Amino acid sequence: MTTESAAYVHPFTKAGMGEAPFRPVAETEERRKERLAGAFGVCDRCHHIIGRVFYVKSACGKVSMVGCDCFEMTWQDGESEAVKDRVEAMIEAAKKADRAEAKKRKADVVHNTLVRLDEVAVRDALAARPHPKGRKGETMLDWCIWMANNAGAKGKGEVASAIKSLKI
Ligand SMILES: [Zn+2]
Repeated sequence: MTTESAAYVHPFTKAGMGEAPFRPVAETEERRKERLAGAFGVCDRCHHIIGRVFYVKSACGKVSMVGCDCFEMTWQDGESEAVKDRVEAMIEAAKKADRAEAKKRKADVVHNTLVRLDEVAVRDALAARPHPKGRKGETMLDWCIWMANNAGAKGKGEVASAIKSLKI
């Protein structure tokens, strides 16, 4: 019998993360703030640098940090489906939170650019350019101001690009 070599060992156990079974652990508020501030970690299993951090707790109480791909290994065949569902839900929630954060960051950048429409140099440079839709008697500045006040996120982004392209 070669039961020793055939014995199944959880990939996390092999990486020195403790004894199976492993369970997902929710991110602490403190860690969430660190992550949103741009801090990153290193996965305890594969040692890759990770931006999206998850935590798992071993049967012996050891808490480790893993990235998205390794986090999916938390649940192993034969274990409760509830653990698998929880892991998948946590990954989905983290991705959703990241998308929302990226969208907010982008909106902030656009906002910080649009306020530059108050700068004289920016206004003068835009006023010297033709209206993008060729409207007679109007300039790029008129278009930018109208778009900044009335357009949605996409249109506002176009105005921000136009301001940035001035290189002022
Ligand atoms: Zn990993």
